[in-house]
Amino acid sequence: MTKKVVLVTGGSGLVGSAIREVIAGERPENEEWIFASSKDADLCDPASTAAMFEKYKPTHVIHLAAQVGGLFANMKYKVEFWRNNIAMNDNIFQECHKRGVEKLVSCLSTCIFPDKTTFPIDETMIHDGPPHFSNEGYAYAKRMVDVQNRMYKAQHGCNFTAVIPTNIFGKHDNFHLDNSHVIPGLIHRGYLCKQKGEPFTIWGSGTPLRQFIYSNDLARLMIWTMREYQEADPIILSVGEEDEISIADVARSVAKALDFQGEVNFDTTKADGQFKKTANNAKLRKYLPDFKFTPFDEAMASTVKWFMENYETPG
Ligand code: GDP
Repeated sequence: MTKKVVLVTGGSGLVGSAIREVIAGERPENEEWIFASSKDADLCDPASTAAMFEKYKPTHVIHLAAQVGGLFANMKYKVEFWRNNIAMNDNIFQECHKRGVEKLVSCLSTCIFPDKTTFPIDETMIHDGPPHFSNEGYAYAKRMVDVQNRMYKAQHGCNFTAVIPTNIFGKHDNFHLDNSHVIPGLIHRGYLCKQKGEPFTIWGSGTPLRQFIYSNDLARLMIWTMREYQEADPIILSVGEEDEISIADVARSVAKALDFQGEVNFDTTKADGQFKKTANNAKLRKYLPDFKFTPFDEAMASTVKWFMENYETPG
């Protein structure tokens, strides 16, 4: 069997680091893995992207690099979110096509789905209506990845596809106190509250519901997608609807993992955001009925442990 050369863009981030850890455990003999970061190439630049492909000569690509950000960055820099993501994706698709890359797996997000929708959302509903105005630059750029996958298949027979994860958490996340997602934000705040003996304040009402996927589980599923999944149409990678949990439950799990014994309260002056974004994982279950997700509290304990060990330089 000829050796696969798998290039991961965005290889030093939350998901890239998890893929690296899973692969380090597997040590597959017929695959060489390369984890590229922004130091390796400017993916917005065609020449720089081409030079990286020339250097590594990948046969397979997992494309994680993207311009990402929270609500406020998305609202302020719509043009940059659109242009940089469109440029990166266009360069990656074109290089993969030109060099005959056998498989390209890109990463979408449930936040690109229509703002007004019915639940649960599934893979067929991405283009059914406009995304939320706040992140339209990012959302429309990412929606085009799905369009590109189909067009490159129709015209050139390429085997390009995309995954759609729900909320991801794990080691190597961004644990910034203000600008992070809920789990890393709560871990960092809860850790400081414990040290100072202060009450632990959760933003919002605690009632919104989310499906969280542990980065190592997502890594295992993306590696499976790269090796086995043959559709151009995307696939939602998520725990089931029955595993959707409230932000209050998340806070309890964080408190438990930190062994925080003090008072937990809710600051309802802070925004709740979307109440829910329930995604259906039936397609994944059709392919992998026996896949076992890491139990939430166990994944939380590993994440908290990593955070504490890396507190000086988290993220
Ligand atoms: P979303 O799925 O894009 O909304 O992702 P977030 O990770 O930002 O989750 C937001 C939900 O968690 C909202 O209901 C927030 O009110 C709640 N939340 C509670 N505490 C925090 C926090 O410290 N940081 C963030 N980002 N959200 C928090």
